[in-house]
Amino acid sequence: MPTDGSVYSYSAVLMGSPILLKLFSHNPPLASRVFSLIKQYEDLLTVNRAQSQVMDINHAAGLHPVTVSRPVYQLIQCAKAASVLPNSAFNLAIGPLVKRWRIGFKGDSVPPADDIQALLNITQAQDVILDDDNLSVFLTRKGMEIDLGAIAKGYIADRVRDVLLKEGVTDGLINLGGNVQTLGTPQGRWSIGLKKPFAEADALVGAMQVAHKSVVTSGTYERYFEQNGRRYHHIIDPHTGYPLDNELDSVTIISTDSLDGDIWTTLLFGAGVEKGCQMLKGRADIEAIFVTKAQEVILSSQRQFRFTLLDDSYRLIDCTA
Ligand code: FAD
Ligand code: MG
Repeated sequence: MPTDGSVYSYSAVLMGSPILLKLFSHNPPLASRVFSLIKQYEDLLTVNRAQSQVMDINHAAGLHPVTVSRPVYQLIQCAKAASVLPNSAFNLAIGPLVKRWRIGFKGDSVPPADDIQALLNITQAQDVILDDDNLSVFLTRKGMEIDLGAIAKGYIADRVRDVLLKEGVTDGLINLGGNVQTLGTPQGRWSIGLKKPFAEADALVGAMQVAHKSVVTSGTYERYFEQNGRRYHHIIDPHTGYPLDNELDSVTIISTDSLDGDIWTTLLFGAGVEKGCQMLKGRADIEAIFVTKAQEVILSSQRQFRFTLLDDSYRLIDCTA
């Protein structure tokens, strides 16, 4: 880090999200390499265009297996493992429901209950068949679609971190729009803001201080629409086909890998605060901050981060309380 501590910020829009890279040296070629890398992964993983490796799998649903590249295969393997955990809220086969609701895209509206019921039959994670020998993926039923929207940004944030480390960068930050991965400890620690739900874009509930960690937040307030006075957000309960409805506005995970953060935000979103705190007891490597509709900020053990409350309309509570 230069002794004057100047931060150089580079931004782009990729994966429908604002991307921000912070470095401590002026290095436009490195910033462009990072943005190209993100774009390469977007091209492999997107389901928002007709063609990508994931779309090749989706187009062949009910027909035949499709061989993909090793990174795509491994990410799908991870996503399936998270999906088949008992009572998991994570489901990599959620695609048909995501496409039907269109939350965050033009034309979003509440689908008829019959449509949702029918789509639940083609959103079963166990119908995603993986073949380790051929690196192939087969969706056994016609109409099935993999959607990696809840995990891909985490994976990509980790790959950006790896490239920066390889390039000798000791201090830096990548934010993929909700997925932050940090390198180093400039001025002691990175301070990452925790957004205030349904408030102005820059309003914060608090800030996390972290070093060498990823911070991932999933919330109900970024992508949603309102119909007949009700709000519908983009994290779908795979068991009902409707947006997850519980006491939470957001879940933030602090972990070493952003991939884990991305998976756990969805798992804990589904579990809710009480079960979520239980689940974290066995995982010293995963820490969480729950923000509830009742304006509570509930923290796990704070081994890997410090939290500063910035909005005194919120009450700070410990997971163990
Ligand atoms: P998370 O909470 O981590 O994930 C929510 C997303 O995961 C949902 O949007 C849905 O896609 C999926 N999902 C919903 N319910 C579940 C569930 N129960 N289990 C598993 N997954 C679930 N956005 C655009 O507007 N335009 C684009 O062109 C575009 N392209 C993208 C390309 C890529 C490769 C990726 C990774 C994302 C892209 N996005 C795009 C954003 C995408 O549509 C999601 O909004 C985004 O990935 C959500 O990330 P998150 O961290 O906010 O939410
Ligand atoms: Mg996620």
